[in-house]
Amino acid sequence: MHRNEPARGSNADLTAEREPRDPATRMHSTSDETSHLVDLVLAYSRRRILSDDTPLDKPVSEAELRRLAGRTIDEQGIGAARALALFEHVLAPACITTDHPQYLSFIPTAPTKAATAFDLVVSASALYGGSWLEGAGAVHAENEVLSWLGREFGLPAGSGGVFVQGGTLGNLSALVAAREHARHRLSQGETDAPVPAPPGGRWKIVCSAEAHSSIASAARVMDVDVVPVTPAGDGMLRGDDVRAALEEHGASVFAVVATAGSTNFGIVDDLASIAELKRDFEFWFHVDGAYGLAGMLSPLARHRFAGVEHADSVIVDPHKWLFAPFDACALIYRDPEMGRRAHTQHAEYLDTLTEGGDWSPSDYAAHLTRRARGLPLWFSLASYGGAAYREAISSSLALAQRIADEIESRAGLSLVRAPQLSVVVFEREGWTKADYDAWSARLLDEQRAFVTPSSHAGRPNTRFAIVNPNTTFEHLVAILDTM
Ligand SMILES: *Cc1c(COP(=O)(O)O)cnc(C)c1O
Repeated sequence: MHRNEPARGSNADLTAEREPRDPATRMHSTSDETSHLVDLVLAYSRRRILSDDTPLDKPVSEAELRRLAGRTIDEQGIGAARALALFEHVLAPACITTDHPQYLSFIPTAPTKAATAFDLVVSASALYGGSWLEGAGAVHAENEVLSWLGREFGLPAGSGGVFVQGGTLGNLSALVAAREHARHRLSQGETDAPVPAPPGGRWKIVCSAEAHSSIASAARVMDVDVVPVTPAGDGMLRGDDVRAALEEHGASVFAVVATAGSTNFGIVDDLASIAELKRDFEFWFHVDGAYGLAGMLSPLARHRFAGVEHADSVIVDPHKWLFAPFDACALIYRDPEMGRRAHTQHAEYLDTLTEGGDWSPSDYAAHLTRRARGLPLWFSLASYGGAAYREAISSSLALAQRIADEIESRAGLSLVRAPQLSVVVFEREGWTKADYDAWSARLLDEQRAFVTPSSHAGRPNTRFAIVNPNTTFEHLVAILDTM
């Protein structure tokens, strides 16, 4: 279908073309076979997107799946109808429904109907999201979202970046840019630039001991060291703790990472007091808000993020609390040029892209080919407007507070820490890890909820991570009643 022409599905003279003559084009031509297949897939997708009773489901052993599914790949093909039926009746039920209201583990996902539906459009359109040359329209829309987020976070006009696969890659790409910036300054002979520590020239990242595991992963990939700083008992990393680490490790620290909503607890570090250290020390300030920074959109939590406006880079995952489907992380640089300098790939066949000076998303992270994965969020945000997002995020915050109060009021239950955002961590008096394990397994087995055990400082506990606006107080109380 040409963009500027109406859809040709009903065009009569097409019918003559509908039986493919060439086996090589069978899978790519518009034929009865392919249109029937597309109808099947769209009908399934429509049912799934609009269903409000998709079961929670649970994993199945490999042996059992092999038995149920049989051999699915052979030379002849089993046909689209059978393959789709296998997916619907065997494979999909062996996948936990991550957008189920009683999925409360890790960080759930809860894409809006609009975002999920538009993900089909992104696929259908074969968009290439890596370069302006190929995907200008898609890139423009993604950049609109990044600018909107940047403004929400108080970053200056001109901040920008790219949607990458996830927070792990976002953190890595930001930290690579940070080190590149330090190296660049060194190479320019700047006397106050960070400098790797002898012996061996080790670069260092300072972060909270409660920072996400992806920071340590990025450090391993980059072959740099992490200096973990133990936060106060409330879990918040503060400027004074970071200052001590900066004094001890000196100029070898090229980046300080603060967490804006820890994954385990939803605790936001004291961003303002950490940012203030930039007056006395030379470092790149990265804010990992993969889960929590979305909370800043709600007036209920906005104040907790004061100081994020000083960040050199931030990430937030739309597939967590911004209601977009997997997989998307918004990586935003205060000065995008820093990202571009660190990440642009150079090759003869790419020169036509890099020499033009256009904004190409590939240049801002450790990737090249990319899906325009920011578009589902763009479509949903454009459709509903920011206020709907604020309402949805506020509902999670309010529910977390309400269930925290309920937990505190129940004999035998207690909060491990007061929630700041929408993660509520609590203990059952006297329960061992084995008790939590058995309870959690039973909840999933009975298809009541997916609530996994966790721990803090060696003590077992469990947690509700609430991001789905369809999760209700009654759902959560029913789970407490099983303890
Ligand atoms: C989830 C999370 C990450 C990792 O993001 P992925 O999208 O899973 O790679 C990083 N940091 C924090 C704080 C997170 O919650």
